[in-house]
Amino acid sequence: MKCLLNRRLVDEAKATISPFDRGYLFADGIYEVIAIVDGLLLDSERHWIRLERSCGEINLPLPMGIEELKSLIADLVSTNAVKEGRVYFQITRGVAERDFAFPAEATPQLFAFVREASVIAPPQADIGIDAVTVEDLRWKRRDIKSIALLPQTMAKQEAKARGAGEAIMMENGFITEGSSSTIHLIKDGKLITRQLSNEVLPGVTRMSIFDVARDLGMVIEERAFTVQEAQHADELFLTSASAIVQGIVRLDDVQIANGSVGLVTHKLRKTYLERSVDEAKRIAMDG
Ligand code: PMP
Repeated sequence: MKCLLNRRLVDEAKATISPFDRGYLFADGIYEVIAIVDGLLLDSERHWIRLERSCGEINLPLPMGIEELKSLIADLVSTNAVKEGRVYFQITRGVAERDFAFPAEATPQLFAFVREASVIAPPQADIGIDAVTVEDLRWKRRDIKSIALLPQTMAKQEAKARGAGEAIMMENGFITEGSSSTIHLIKDGKLITRQLSNEVLPGVTRMSIFDVARDLGMVIEERAFTVQEAQHADELFLTSASAIVQGIVRLDDVQIANGSVGLVTHKLRKTYLERSVDEAKRIAMDG
């Protein structure tokens, strides 16, 4: 596979970067993950917008114009002929002396790679996953998609050790979000999702699932909820660009409803996929 280092497509095995890059020394950088279906990027516009916002919040200039970045990422996907999977890309502040404050001069660095993966019909979409709760150990600017992910890696590791597919993070008695996902519940036909703030990442899939839910006539309640409320939901599910919509059938050893992925969860997943693939095709034709 080829990866992208700034404007160059390089064999992954031959790609090298400086250990003085501030991404390596300070996790000083921003990233995005976008799903690929039919060789096209799903929900890309919202990911580009979030990328620009995250960079703006830490005063990190893009290494190139956004239109050039879009076309470099599209080239990476087509060069590797990935039809279904995901693309990861990050922008770091670049190479500088190791001073904490931002360097006066540094060239931001782009790194991107693609992987094939099942997006449309992974097995978990049908059977759902188990989740466990863990303490949310993160910083106070979780709205920024920072590459500093140590608390999330620890959370996911704990989930794995406990035999679960996702760690749901808890703060002051309420669920914040998954280690790499937004958590939603359905109760009496209503979609309940934590409100946006500095305490959670503004999920792209979250926003698009809201559009779908509204069009299906559902009421959306944006508020924090507890583990007990999640365990007594009619349906519990997560969203992310990687998992799209995934049912959660067990939380900390409590089975959710009848223990299978709910009908609304299935409907939201299916409708979201149809719409986002159509939209990606439209963008590809217009572009
Ligand atoms: N919250 C966190 C902490 C995440 O890492 C992710 C995945 N990037 C999400 C939510 C879901 O965001 P998105 O739908 O944009 O992938």
